[in-house]
Amino acid sequence: MDEASLEKAAGLLARSKTAIALTGAGISVASGVPDFRSPGGLWDRYDPMAVATTTALDRAPRQVWEFLLDAISVIGPAKPNPAHAALARLEAAGRLAGIVTQNIDGLHQAAGSKNVIEFHGGMERYFCMGCGRAHAPEAALSLTRADIPWRCEACGAVVRPDIVFFGEAIPLDALDKSGQLALAADLIIVAGTSGEVAPANLLPREVRARGGTVVEINLTESALTGLADVSIFAAAETALPALAERALS
Ligand SMILES: [Zn+2]
Repeated sequence: MDEASLEKAAGLLARSKTAIALTGAGISVASGVPDFRSPGGLWDRYDPMAVATTTALDRAPRQVWEFLLDAISVIGPAKPNPAHAALARLEAAGRLAGIVTQNIDGLHQAAGSKNVIEFHGGMERYFCMGCGRAHAPEAALSLTRADIPWRCEACGAVVRPDIVFFGEAIPLDALDKSGQLALAADLIIVAGTSGEVAPANLLPREVRARGGTVVEINLTESALTGLADVSIFAAAETALPALAERALS
């Protein structure tokens, strides 16, 4: 990890009045949740268009649920890693106003972060597509292949996770809240995302356009590197604790 970049980022964070974070798949890799898009990730084994669309849910719910069981087996047992903990610590210390995440694993909340905006929903919530009734995530963890598709005991319709499938819109509430956060922010930490997925990748651009600072933490150069004031090329679970430690000392 480049010491000078780390020191510069910590200084910027310590001086900022309203810092926010945008996180992506890279922040959860150390928790055992591989990036769906990476080699060996879920999209290597499943065609997203066949298992992660509302059309597929209507027409082939069992096929969708085979994919969801696989996703639950990866995400269900995952625990927050030092990257999630560092962001929770910054928020608790009053140094981070909120997190916008593209992840659906609920690990920021599990680490203790309070203001978490999920752009793509979360696998920790389930609801019935027929009657709308909420279903407990604990029940999802014990589902087997004999139980799928998961059906609502009240009305018999298919139960689905509260995640954004391909072709579905980002929840309006998430768009609204993230827009407000970005408007108020004078610094954004972008961690573990290559900045290629819209509209989340617009947030750093919004902060930058209004004179704010962009701190990037990523393993390699990304689409956001040109925009960033400082880039730390390191794993999030190493860089974020080091950054929090310095900014808070
Ligand atoms: Zn129902």
